[in-house]
Amino acid sequence: MSSTYKDRFPYIDRRVVEATRRLIAARPWRGNPGRGGRAEFEAAYAACRAWLEEASAVYWLRVPFLRIRSLILIKHPFGCYDPAVNTIHLPKFSVTTLAHEFRHAYQHQTGCPDGDEEDARGWSVSLIYLADPAFYRRAVERGLLLYW
Ligand SMILES: [Zn+2]
Repeated sequence: MSSTYKDRFPYIDRRVVEATRRLIAARPWRGNPGRGGRAEFEAAYAACRAWLEEASAVYWLRVPFLRIRSLILIKHPFGCYDPAVNTIHLPKFSVTTLAHEFRHAYQHQTGCPDGDEEDARGWSVSLIYLADPAFYRRAVERGLLLYW
């Protein structure tokens, strides 16, 4: 089961791929604890918000809210999407996890089966791969992806 998710969605909307390329270039992980301070956190948050607005516009979604390190993560350590309040919760800034949880927002708002993990994994990993193949490969090599 290796290297399958990245090929699951070969034709993601070019505008979303471009937005993802810009988000990776903004290096939002520098806003994580131990990496940067308040300024880096704010910059990372702004970059993720901008991506959410662009991607939501492409798919006509209500833009999900974004919360970092909220208490709900005790139950969902890798992040989650709460459809009741249209909110994405992330334990830290991660382009792949943001894309994964955004896909759950998409599923919920477009009437797809909620919480389809295979779909969310395939879409998010394919998106990262399309946006920046080198970034994808480095993440796999460093063991930073839970699936690839
Ligand atoms: Zn999921």
